[in-house]
Amino acid sequence: MMSLRFLAGATLMLSLMLPAAHAEQPSANTSHGFDRQQWNAPQKPFRIYGNTWYVGPYGLSSILLDTGQGLALFDGDLPESAPVIEANIRALGFRVRDIKWILNSHAHSDHAGGIAALQRDSGAQVLASAAGAREMALGGADRDDPQYGDLPDYPPVHHVRVLRDGEVVRLGGVAITTHYTPGHTQGSTSWTWTSCADGRCLRMAYADSLTAISASGFRFSDDPGRVAAFHRAIATVAALPCDILLTPHPDASDFWQKVARRKSDTDAAPLIDAGACRAYAANAGKKLDARLAQEHAGTGTK
Ligand SMILES: [Zn+2]
Repeated sequence: MMSLRFLAGATLMLSLMLPAAHAEQPSANTSHGFDRQQWNAPQKPFRIYGNTWYVGPYGLSSILLDTGQGLALFDGDLPESAPVIEANIRALGFRVRDIKWILNSHAHSDHAGGIAALQRDSGAQVLASAAGAREMALGGADRDDPQYGDLPDYPPVHHVRVLRDGEVVRLGGVAITTHYTPGHTQGSTSWTWTSCADGRCLRMAYADSLTAISASGFRFSDDPGRVAAFHRAIATVAALPCDILLTPHPDASDFWQKVARRKSDTDAAPLIDAGACRAYAANAGKKLDARLAQEHAGTGTK
């Protein structure tokens, strides 16, 4: 009896200690610094600008576009984000079954993990780059991914419509342009469209992650073609039509700081920065250069 009670106590202590130990080492399980609970924290959905809405949890963007003839959704976030995103869409008065398209930034579990469920629940068509479609069908287990072996798998996504680089797709009154921006993953894609409110139209950019991170042992510099493509992707993002920059990780573009400065729900001013894509790309370029220098110097990479 005593030993059982002791065991129960020890188990309780262990379970109390584990989350704290995890919190001290946020990057222990992957090079992404995966903290899925924090990423999936609830967030009230809201209008970003015009027909563009934020419907993701707090730490991962999911962007809804109301085209007037159906909805387009950018990213499904983590597998456990799908019900959060669906509840947010309903809370805004939209219907999940009106999602016609689901578009993906890149095929990692924190942006594509919820797509299979969202596809099933909505009947939407999923759209991605050629490499992105291949990666999503593998559920993120792509050997060509710099972070291969380091990231969680997720429910694979099938029946993906492949879009070419530069391809423009139209739904309702909205034209969405596909920009291949490989580097973070081979299938990384950025998307642009225009949203209008009160007669003022702004250029919206959903620019993909440009971080040169990897599983240990991987070297970007082993493949000059990959490095050249990464540099081109950074230049592509720098040149995107971009009044409002959105990123798959909101904090990568200081999104919440900008939102906090809004004076009302329709105040767009703090979100507008025509130099934001250039600055985002410049920062990525510096980090890529630092990473390559590190690889050439033969010092440890992560
Ligand atoms: Zn990623």
